[in-house]
Amino acid sequence: MVKVVSSISEMLEDIKKERGIYPKIIGTSAKKYPQTISYKDMRDKIEKEDDIYLIMLGTGWGMPEELVVSCDYILEPILGPGEYNHLSVRNAAAIILDRLFGINR
Ligand code: SAM
Repeated sequence: MVKVVSSISEMLEDIKKERGIYPKIIGTSAKKYPQTISYKDMRDKIEKEDDIYLIMLGTGWGMPEELVVSCDYILEPILGPGEYNHLSVRNAAAIILDRLFGINR
């Protein structure tokens, strides 16, 4: 089911209403932050803990800084062989979902 809401707080309230708890928010970025977590540690949490999780991706400008710092976790940046690692959101989403839930991880 796809649902369109007008704000992040509305989305969080919607999830709380449906699932009974607020989700832990997983942010994504091309940069590292203090709450950056590895894919392995994030997979372990998703598999072992009773929390529910919401993965957020940014627009062409990335996620606003105030949103990033409010995330419970930030996935480690996807890196390539060179210095430039600013991927399109759809490419980043595909890699992130594969690393978290793909069968070859
Ligand atoms: N300058 C922005 C930044 O530093 O995040 C790039 C924005 S990128 C066009 C759009 C979104 O794709 C980002 O907000 C993030 O969700 C995701 N993304 C892009 N490159 C990424 C990377 N190397 N690692 C993790 N996520 C990435």
